[in-house]
Amino acid sequence: MCGIVGYTGPREAYPIIIKGLHRLEYRGYDSAGVALVNENDGLHVYKKKGRVADLEETLIGANLHSHIGIGHTRWATHGEPSDRNAHPHVSFSGEIAMIHNGIIENYAQIKKELLKKGYTFKSDTDTEVLVNFIDDIKQNNDCTLEEAVRIALRRVVGAYCILLVHKDDPETIIAARKGSPLVIGIGKGEHFLASDASPIIEYTKEVVYVNDYEIAIVKPDELVLKNLGNDKQTPFITKLNMDMAAIEKGGYDHFMLKEIFEQPNTIYDCLRGRLDAENGNIIMSGIQKYAEQIINAPRIIIIACGTSWHAGLVAEYIIEETCRIPVEVEYASEFRYRNPIVHKGDVIIAISQSGETADTLVAIEKAKEQGAIIVGIVNVVGSSIARTSHTGSYTHAGPEIGVASTKAFTAQLAVLTMIALKIGYEKGTLDKERYLYLCKELAAIPEKAELVLKLDDHIKEIALKYKDVPDFLYLGRGYNFPIALEGALKLKEISYIHAEGYPAAEMKHGPIALVTNTLPVVFVATKDAYHGKVVSNMQEIKARKGIVISIITEGDTASPPLSDDVIVLPAADEIVAPMLSVIPLQLLAYHIGVAKGYDVDKPRNLAKSVTVE
Ligand code: GLU
Repeated sequence: MCGIVGYTGPREAYPIIIKGLHRLEYRGYDSAGVALVNENDGLHVYKKKGRVADLEETLIGANLHSHIGIGHTRWATHGEPSDRNAHPHVSFSGEIAMIHNGIIENYAQIKKELLKKGYTFKSDTDTEVLVNFIDDIKQNNDCTLEEAVRIALRRVVGAYCILLVHKDDPETIIAARKGSPLVIGIGKGEHFLASDASPIIEYTKEVVYVNDYEIAIVKPDELVLKNLGNDKQTPFITKLNMDMAAIEKGGYDHFMLKEIFEQPNTIYDCLRGRLDAENGNIIMSGIQKYAEQIINAPRIIIIACGTSWHAGLVAEYIIEETCRIPVEVEYASEFRYRNPIVHKGDVIIAISQSGETADTLVAIEKAKEQGAIIVGIVNVVGSSIARTSHTGSYTHAGPEIGVASTKAFTAQLAVLTMIALKIGYEKGTLDKERYLYLCKELAAIPEKAELVLKLDDHIKEIALKYKDVPDFLYLGRGYNFPIALEGALKLKEISYIHAEGYPAAEMKHGPIALVTNTLPVVFVATKDAYHGKVVSNMQEIKARKGIVISIITEGDTASPPLSDDVIVLPAADEIVAPMLSVIPLQLLAYHIGVAKGYDVDKPRNLAKSVTVE
């Protein structure tokens, strides 16, 4: 998820672009870059690893005069954050510069074709492949840049918002989108382009939201929109009436809420290009490379901290069920300081949103020394864990700004589930029928997550009802036990209410002593093989006058009579259900935290990326 800015008009482009990039930095901060076209001496590209401020610093004193430009702040998906992978990317001929937000899924195939034709590449990005593909089409067909873009995009699979400039055209920006956002601001004799309206709003309130499969040909005093079939489209002009902060947060009050609501998309992004549910294919190149070692692993050890550790616990259940390989889930901080027994051939799955978690990093090094194979599951491309691991898989959830992890967790679950299904099927421990069924169930999660989010108002009502209690208990069994832990953790982090997560049956061995008529007990009780047992546990709480808040599956008639409040989720197989059942718990914590007046995006004492032990 990158941030994109463009300008064409009578003003100096560079200051407008830099200011815009600062506003979009929440979308990515791996590198920043600009391309300017000067009417006298053509194209100039400047880019730098790090933040926008780092780029600015290197450009102090440079002659940046230009009335047209494009700028990018990157959240890497292909190729580590570095100067050479930074956008804009310039085509082999040196004529076209392009910035891109998204993922070109079939870039490898296109790259192969271009390599055969003698193209060479300076970066590891999918973006550089696309700009060369466009340039190649332009040269071969002797056509305009606009036409070349149109032809190229008909072959592209994936998501993109792209902005291009040509060295000989100091007026025109060609832009196109599918899946990634693009807003065009309409000024007097000038146009502004950006990923969201925050870089635009100070100049104009009139904007056009470009639709999927549309190409915009943008000049200072002209905006032409076309579809991929070259038919003109009528731009629909909208008036902005939002303040800047609201726009950065996509209209949400907090990043945390925005990120919770992004989950249908982030889970989809994570599955996209990997899961082909129709044909029962899961393509994960990092895992394929080590498939044999994973299949034959005597043991899998999952190492993580915090929310990622909970994702690891869910994965333990899934992997043991589908792959029949024994799994242990370890806190990285404990693992590193004892004398763990790791055998050659053991597979370590290390999970971390940032990829920089200090304890996890050291634990990996330790296991690596003892001959283990390290599979990293991280969100941040090129992070330390990604680099230290033998192989792995990115979660592609985009930058997570809210300190309490939400969308990164569900993306971790999506990746771990794909790995388990792939390995289980290849190993033969997961039969074809169930495998195909689970692939479809997994593919259906983004749509079902949308339905869960529709319960937000109802969950807010529940939150307001219980916001002043001092304690909460969260219970769940099987796949939902780690979700109960995660729900309790979210509540602690965001609302500072004491909360405990427990396996539902284990509650009888201690926590039941806490139950009174003022203690809310959240049951994560979606339909699974043991649902009847969880209902008995609800009876036990009710018998002691506890308050029951239950999260159940549609059609469950046993739980509602025992519950004070009910949250009903769409049906899903128990293996994929945690990606849905965690969402109401995230919302519950969020609304309680907000109702108590806390800064939910920056909870006290917590940091986003724990780089200290
Ligand atoms: N795939 C591009 C890159 O890695 C763009 C990244 C994005 O938009 O997230 O550079």
